[in-house]
Amino acid sequence: MDSTPASSSADAIALESKGVGEPVAPLRLDRWIKGLEGSDPRSVPPPAWPDAQPLPEPPFPRHPELLGEERSGPVVQDRHWSLPLIRRKVNGWLVPYVKSRVLPGSFHPILAYLFTDWKCNVDCHYCPSWDNRTPGMTEDVARRSIDWLESTTCRVLAVMGGEPLVRPAFVHKVTDYAASKGFWVYIGTNGRLLKPAVVDRLGDAGMAVFNVAMDTVDPKPGLPKALNPVRRQFEYLLRKQYDYGYMVFFNICICRTNMNDVRELTEIAHEYRIATDYHVCESPMYEQPHFKHLHDNGVFLRREDWPKVDELVDWLIEKNKAGYAMVNSIKRLNDMKDFLRGRLEPWNCRAGLNSVVIRTDGSVAPCFPLYAAKVDWGHIGSPRFDAARLEAMKVECQRNCFSTLQHNLGFCYNDRRVLHWVARQAARGFRSGARCFED
Ligand code: SF4
Repeated sequence: MDSTPASSSADAIALESKGVGEPVAPLRLDRWIKGLEGSDPRSVPPPAWPDAQPLPEPPFPRHPELLGEERSGPVVQDRHWSLPLIRRKVNGWLVPYVKSRVLPGSFHPILAYLFTDWKCNVDCHYCPSWDNRTPGMTEDVARRSIDWLESTTCRVLAVMGGEPLVRPAFVHKVTDYAASKGFWVYIGTNGRLLKPAVVDRLGDAGMAVFNVAMDTVDPKPGLPKALNPVRRQFEYLLRKQYDYGYMVFFNICICRTNMNDVRELTEIAHEYRIATDYHVCESPMYEQPHFKHLHDNGVFLRREDWPKVDELVDWLIEKNKAGYAMVNSIKRLNDMKDFLRGRLEPWNCRAGLNSVVIRTDGSVAPCFPLYAAKVDWGHIGSPRFDAARLEAMKVECQRNCFSTLQHNLGFCYNDRRVLHWVARQAARGFRSGARCFED
């Protein structure tokens, strides 16, 4: 077994030094983040904006002919990409990329995460990204966020939480408002609240992608995001994708107790003809007082799990080569092994340059992993991202971070790869949009 320490950070085995339970949760950046917060503290709340306005009430249904189950076909069908759907994808990704390459300055977001809620309806034991005491985003902040983003290069809006569907009517309004302004809208959800009526509203409003987090086939201790309890409504979501034109993929977190489930979900996704996206179960980078599962955690990967993870990653790479649709490139799958061993090389993180996080209160951060950092990066309409400071910051955090979306963005932010992707998509007639990040 490899004996390299699990992290190069001095904080690697922070819990061990505290003498608390099993040292299973290395807080890789705990001391580092305190230094960062000390140098530029976020003490001032975002301004109380004058003339608060709600989001417009979405007309529903915009497409009455698509409502309901009766007219839908089977769960798996051939996919047809209409010209409007191709245009939506090109305007969402390609045009912002080209603008970001030619415009002066360094902050040209391609992708924004809009955290409409920090509440969640389940409790996955690896996840610190929720706190049910946090108020949800107001309609005024959501509207201002979308208006501000429209004035930038950004045309991809990822609606995130917590679980954003704790307020489905709010997400319906956000989706309709953003889609009507030309945004490619994406939602990250655990799928539990994705009832058929919600699918119809979001599909009707123009949702482009449902990223459904799924860790097991049946629930396991500490891993409640399971397919079987929601399979019926999930199959409704799949059937309706051919009517509304959105895409669906599984977002799977590799933990110490679900490696057989990861294989099974990969095969199920392949049968459903949907893509998969994999994460390694990262422990929190830094302590977050609201997170209850830092100690004696049963799902975090431990050193003795590394050989099993290696084997699983190799299996996934074989499936990727065999044509299974995966968001992760082969290189990024292989990088998981290096990440576990603390050997990650710099990987072109674009956070704060081509991506931005908008918190529930309207303050901004460069990326999801730094959502809870109390650093002043400004707020909507007035971000404070300095390219040189971001670069200096990333010297440390890039070696300790496996944010899958940022890795994909960094990997794809490359002219040669973008040209390659355009050529392949054109050759395939844009048949499979989910493979936009492939190697
Ligand atoms: S490497 Fe990038 S995505 Fe990860 S914490 Fe640092 S800035 Fe955020």
